[in-house]
Amino acid sequence: MLASPGTGVLVLDQNDRPGAKLSLTGGGRCNILPAAADPSVYVTSSSRNSLAKILRGWSPGEARSFFAREAGVGIGPEAATGKLFAVPGGAPAVTGALEGIARRAGAVFRYRSRVSAISPSERGWTVSLECGESVESGRVVLATGGRSWPGTGSGGWGFAEAARLGHTVRPVYPALVPLLSGDPGFGSLSGIVVEATISSVFEGRPFSVRGPLLFTHRGFSGPVVMDASHAATGPRTAALSVSWGGLDRKAWEEALLAGRGLVRKALESHLPSRLAGLIVERAGLDPSIRFADLTRDGRMSLLAVLSACPLPVSGNCGWDEAEVTGGGVALEEVDPASLESRLHPGLHFAGEVLDAFGPVGGCNLYWAWLTGRLSAGARRPRKPSP
Ligand SMILES: Cc1cc2nc3c(=O)[nH]c(=O)nc-3n(C[C@H](O)[C@H](O)[C@H](O)COP(=O)(O)OP(=O)(O)OC[C@H]3O[C@@H](n4cnc5c(N)ncnc54)[C@H](O)[C@@H]3O)c2cc1C
Repeated sequence: MLASPGTGVLVLDQNDRPGAKLSLTGGGRCNILPAAADPSVYVTSSSRNSLAKILRGWSPGEARSFFAREAGVGIGPEAATGKLFAVPGGAPAVTGALEGIARRAGAVFRYRSRVSAISPSERGWTVSLECGESVESGRVVLATGGRSWPGTGSGGWGFAEAARLGHTVRPVYPALVPLLSGDPGFGSLSGIVVEATISSVFEGRPFSVRGPLLFTHRGFSGPVVMDASHAATGPRTAALSVSWGGLDRKAWEEALLAGRGLVRKALESHLPSRLAGLIVERAGLDPSIRFADLTRDGRMSLLAVLSACPLPVSGNCGWDEAEVTGGGVALEEVDPASLESRLHPGLHFAGEVLDAFGPVGGCNLYWAWLTGRLSAGARRPRKPSP
């Protein structure tokens, strides 16, 4: 929460230190930015036009220059994945650098300061603290996060407060979250990782995401499952369908037509052995069937399990394990250039409290940096102090 009494900036946080959630990002190494930020990869139930306009406000390249030149934070790609991490120093270096910049610019930080209400007042806004104190300010930025990992301080207070002030808050749900399954066959593969493409529909838009899928004893995890999970946890849940091994339907069709010898053996050149066995079984085929004995119907049912296998999802791991929150303050109710409320002059929103999130890989911190910067850019108070 940022308030600007007079010309200064006061940062209020209920935690006893800055960056509690930031310290967890990228396993502490901080996957700080994406290489690019295509609006199509972001998820929102709000206006996609508003989303695209906000994302144009500060590109990942500009953010990278800011971190390198102004914050002194090194950013380097991880060799295996190309993901951008803060090196050296990881999340603590980022927190220290940003807090240092803010302090040098005159910002005052108050920790252990839980805000209980923000209300329009004569001079702009009254920010009431739980301890009984209040602060008057011409401008307030609500950057209270979402509901994910509530132990870091993000309990969802900002959603309730925005709704109380008349904003539309789109229903919130855990996103980028591991999924649960009661399927014993997939459960027996716990610990196995396979490249997978998951397809589904969200808000009427079909999407496909590709990456590693991890079978767990509770269900499914790994980047591709996290990135697709919103279809199963969002406002209108949709089925998830998997194409295994990084191959699409056409590639699997060609592989099956070219196959010789044991079917299971051929599948093992693309898939972990135990998954190959389960797929043959799920297609209703004999485990030792050979291509020479595969009927057309058998090939079609094998193709269906290989390239459009329904992922049996029974739930998700909830707020304690969701990396972000889906839903939030409607984007069309803020000015995309300054994130200022269209309902209440002087009130801005930033970060996860807004209705948008991106896939794993730095997109969500980028959203936090970008919206934080845009919301802080509009400094001129609308209502002059008496
Ligand atoms: C385990 C994990 C790993 C992640 N890894 C990555 C990653 O590598 N890369 C990436 O891009 N994203 C990652 N994310 C997502 C990213 O951390 C979030 O999107 C980002 O932190 C959101 O920033 P925010 O400022 O909106 O909210 P938060 O970081 O949640 O900050 C909100 C702050 O508001 C304070 N607050 C809330 N209510 C009040 C109140 N009433 N009064 C006073 N203070 C209040 C809280 O104490 C908190 O400090 C990860 C998330 C998790 C959980």
